Amino acid sequence: MLYLDELTKTFRGEIRLSEPLAPYTSLKLGGPADVFLIPRTKEDVIEAVRWIRKHGLRHYFLGYGTNILVSDAGFRGVVVRLADTLTEIRIQGTKVYAEAGASLPLLVLETIKAGLAGLESLGGVPGTVGGALLMNAGAYGTEIFDVVETVEAIHGSKVLKFDREDIHYEYRKTNLDHDFILSCELVLKKGNREDLLEKRKNLLQKRRDSQPLEVPNAGSIFKNPPGKFAGALIESAGLKGLRVGGCSVSTKHANFLVNDQGGTSSDMISLIEAVRKGVLDQHGVKLELEVKKVGFE
Ligand SMILES: Cc1cc2nc3c(=O)[nH]c(=O)nc-3n(C[C@H](O)[C@H](O)[C@H](O)COP(=O)(O)OP(=O)(O)OC[C@H]3O[C@@H](n4cnc5c(N)ncnc54)[C@H](O)[C@@H]3O)c2cc1C
Repeated sequence: MLYLDELTKTFRGEIRLSEPLAPYTSLKLGGPADVFLIPRTKEDVIEAVRWIRKHGLRHYFLGYGTNILVSDAGFRGVVVRLADTLTEIRIQGTKVYAEAGASLPLLVLETIKAGLAGLESLGGVPGTVGGALLMNAGAYGTEIFDVVETVEAIHGSKVLKFDREDIHYEYRKTNLDHDFILSCELVLKKGNREDLLEKRKNLLQKRRDSQPLEVPNAGSIFKNPPGKFAGALIESAGLKGLRVGGCSVSTKHANFLVNDQGGTSSDMISLIEAVRKGVLDQHGVKLELEVKKVGFE
């Protein structure tokens, strides 16, 4: 690709070409990215984003890929994957600093072990801290932005620190989607370590009982419409078990569309459209995707 020589002068991480994306997603679907960057340091991330912006390159910022659906054709552009890099977690009193590449489940556990309450409901949300911030991830009545104080991100080509009041966030959405998130500061409350561990354990069990965690999935495919549950709408429209090729609507949880028989992204898209149509016809409700589509344009 054009400009790669320039990047190699400053970027110390790994550069891969035509890298298949499926292994980097929890749905295990999708074709290759033209350029796939694995930064090793914060400076690498800054260099990569500066290079992308300078040349106006198509790009996608990736965490653990637990909320994305990549097209079979893959992504014509540059993917920057942040995972196993920028993983620092620091706890001081009730203040927590976490870098964007840290695992959210690990952050939850570390804060509980430090006797801090506020994140325990998110113990079963896979992915990175960066992905959780971008999505305003939430579960069982808690959203990550409930406890965010600041977010550090590359905005344009500048590293800026935003206060929570400067960020627009709502259910599974923030206005950080053009930024590269680097880290955050959270403020938690003192809690009882044993009670918090117990709560986390019970919620993880609840997930195992109700979600098809044994097959490739991306969690809830659709957002819950206001005052309703997408899963209940899909189930009552009689769509549980519906199959297109290797993908189906889970019989365990109707808002989980799973890649249970070696499907393709085209199968998944057709299934998504069939479910949307079924729910619209039966209930008059338009379901909105929670999962992010990558490389379909
Ligand atoms: C079994 C299962 C259960 C789930 N349960 C829940 C749940 O209860 N609640 C919930 O909210 N979600 C849930 N999810 C969805 C998913 O785990 C969350 O959305 C998670 O926060 C995504 O993190 P990630 O690192 O995997 O992000 P990715 O999937 O890699 O990316 C998601 C979005 O974040 C962006 N992004 C990632 N990192 C950065 C960064 N550093 N800077 C800027 N943008 C970035 C990507 O561009 C993309 O738009 C579940 C998923 C699975 C597979």
